[in-house]
Amino acid sequence: MSTGPKQILILGGGFAGVYTARCLEKLLRSEEASITLINRENYWVYQPMLPEVISGSIGLTNVVSPIRRLCPRTNLIMREVEDIDLKRQIVTISPGFRPRQIGLKYDYLVITLGNVTNFHGMPGLIENAMPFRTLADAMVLRNHLIHVLEEADVEEDQELRRELLTFVVAGGGFSGVEVMAELNDFVCSVKRNYLRLRNEPHRCVIVQAGDRILPEMSEVLAISAQRILRKRGVEIILNDRLKAATSERAILQSGTEIPCKTLISTVPSALPPVVQKLDCPKEHGKLLVNAGLELKDYEGKVWALGDCAYMTTIAGTKVPPTAQHAIREATIAAINIAAALHGGKRAEFGFEGLGTLGSLGYGAAVAQICGVKVSGFLAWCLWRWIYLMKMPGLNRKVRITIDWILRLLFPPELAQTRVAFESGIRNQYFEPGDIIFRQGDLGDSVYVIEDGECDALRDQNGEEQLLATLGRGEYFGEMALLSDRTRNATIRARTAMNVSIIPKEDFNKLRRSVPIFEDVFTELASRRAEAGSSCLSAEPSMPDGSSATAS
Ligand SMILES: Cc1cc2nc3c(=O)[nH]c(=O)nc-3n(C[C@H](O)[C@H](O)[C@H](O)COP(=O)(O)OP(=O)(O)OC[C@H]3O[C@@H](n4cnc5c(N)ncnc54)[C@H](O)[C@@H]3O)c2cc1C
Repeated sequence: MSTGPKQILILGGGFAGVYTARCLEKLLRSEEASITLINRENYWVYQPMLPEVISGSIGLTNVVSPIRRLCPRTNLIMREVEDIDLKRQIVTISPGFRPRQIGLKYDYLVITLGNVTNFHGMPGLIENAMPFRTLADAMVLRNHLIHVLEEADVEEDQELRRELLTFVVAGGGFSGVEVMAELNDFVCSVKRNYLRLRNEPHRCVIVQAGDRILPEMSEVLAISAQRILRKRGVEIILNDRLKAATSERAILQSGTEIPCKTLISTVPSALPPVVQKLDCPKEHGKLLVNAGLELKDYEGKVWALGDCAYMTTIAGTKVPPTAQHAIREATIAAINIAAALHGGKRAEFGFEGLGTLGSLGYGAAVAQICGVKVSGFLAWCLWRWIYLMKMPGLNRKVRITIDWILRLLFPPELAQTRVAFESGIRNQYFEPGDIIFRQGDLGDSVYVIEDGECDALRDQNGEEQLLATLGRGEYFGEMALLSDRTRNATIRARTAMNVSIIPKEDFNKLRRSVPIFEDVFTELASRRAEAGSSCLSAEPSMPDGSSATAS
């Protein structure tokens, strides 16, 4: 039995994950526990202020904070969690620069992977609706808004101009309302910079399934919020929901169609796929946990909290998916992990919430704190003050305050910071002797040789065997993708070579949509599989050069 520090693995670096790590750092000594946090980014996002990135009220990097600084005693692994094996206590993470499968063993596991916007079963939404959860979403939306304004300014066709100037948000909860409020503010304040748009009306629409927006708040405040938003020109469609979308319009359940080029959807949400596939009890589509945040059937070993967990408080009310709850849950989970590790009193979650705050754009908000309800400018000051104080670290507080002061003095920034994403298929150059991939690596791409030569080598009991030499026009790497296995050979450049690399996702897309592509590769893979055993023992190089066995 291992006597070293216990391994605590935290999955997810949002409110729940980061605050659990911070709390554990205070409760446990390094000799008794090693804390590791896995997150797909190396920063933590302050989501309540994320909508302000749209209007540029807050600079992009000021709404995020590096996890390494927030949790200095925690090992951060910036990777994607691909699989959680609760029985074997192993978490598999995505490959990095070198595509290898990595499994991490844990003694205690904390699942805080949040949730995702789920467009499943809603035709056209994946292609045409933008989610709004991450820093990348905020950046993409801001750039998109500037793009449609630029387009509208030069467009002669009146109908298309109207489409370009129509903005639809599906979901009237906090995030939907805050996104629309910021978007509307931004468009209103920058339109004057576009000579042809100055006097052109734009249309902002919130679509909400219920009979009022902000269902998390009291009815009085929700009605007040609706009034304020309508006064600012936002149209609110109630008792309807988004059903489908095309590149030209949003289609609602009632049959109403809204021609638009900007559709943002903050609903519905679901568990991330890696959590969804866990074989454990779930409630309302979330992981079921007890008042100590322990995962049902894995008590004392696995905790789940934040947006991905379902629980009720001691008073029996359902815990809402908010940051203030996630932070309190993190404290309880950390206390209970420490108790599981070295004994001590366990804690139960009993927090009922201090109140709710929602921004309605510049100078207006609604707030309900300890039973007191406020709306308008005073609520907005409260909103800003409270969220600023909750932002961890003086550094970020100062930066945000400066951003707000600058926004008071100057109009919002209008420069588009377009990020060029690499296209799927890319080229790569290799020097003689360079390894392109290694035997045992995960199959993540298929390679086509543009020029040069490479060797396919297999390690056989510590001895390197040459399977084949491949040249211009040949491909390799498809077998691991087709059979979902690891690479069965190493590929090393024999001469300087240029290759085209087709990533797994694009390769599979092509296979699904172009039958002849599928046929060619399946046939090639089976030929190579057959040739594989013989060439291992007999010929080091394939006579016709076409049927090497590198997968
Ligand atoms: C726009 C917006 C505004 C909001 N405003 C407020 C507000 O004003 N007040 C309030 O209380 N709440 C607000 N919320 C809700 C609040 O932000 C969430 O309840 C809170 O963030 C939940 O924390 P979490 O840690 O459970 O999840 P998240 O903060 O979503 O964190 C999950 C983390 O897991 C990571 N992750 C997910 N899957 C993987 C994977 N497979 N591999 C690796 N990493 C992964 C994600 O990258 C993310 O970092 C808002 C939310 C949004 C989207």
